[in-house]
Amino acid sequence: MSSTLNVITALKTPGQSYPFEADTTIEKMQVLGDPVEFTDVTARGEFMSSGERIDVDGEAKAIVVSRCARCLKPVSEPISAPLHATFHRQPDPEDPDQYCYEASKVELTDAIRDALVLELPLRFLCKADCKGLCPKCGIDLNTGSCTCQEGEDDLNPFAALRSIVEYNEEV
Ligand SMILES: [Zn+2]
Ligand SMILES: [Zn+2]
Repeated sequence: MSSTLNVITALKTPGQSYPFEADTTIEKMQVLGDPVEFTDVTARGEFMSSGERIDVDGEAKAIVVSRCARCLKPVSEPISAPLHATFHRQPDPEDPDQYCYEASKVELTDAIRDALVLELPLRFLCKADCKGLCPKCGIDLNTGSCTCQEGEDDLNPFAALRSIVEYNEEV
């Protein structure tokens, strides 16, 4: 497999769709300040020409590697994203973000990366109830405990209210 579609036949037969399978590699990136890496990136679907445009419809899949928003441990999980992209023969100066193809070859990597980034969750958690790190001493509260906040939560009648406020802040 590769990340390139040869569209020479499709360009000669507008309206006829052709299936494809692709794979590619995507460079590590930062998304909203978090390191994000996609591995095992694949895509499948079909493509079709309409005159000089190539429309690609399908699905992209990858394993996304990032870190837990609370305890900063590495997290990896599968992700899939709808892949809908249009490739133009000529770059449009008014719309520099659009995808183009050259010499009857459509390079899918940018479109796959963009589709996957759009599907990223707002934040990754290693588990839904990750306790995170103590904001004072930095200990991992999943595996250890400290006395920084001893007694505060259990005895404080406003603890429940505070957890609601924290939840809202995190979103
Ligand atoms: Zn965690
Ligand atoms: Zn602590």
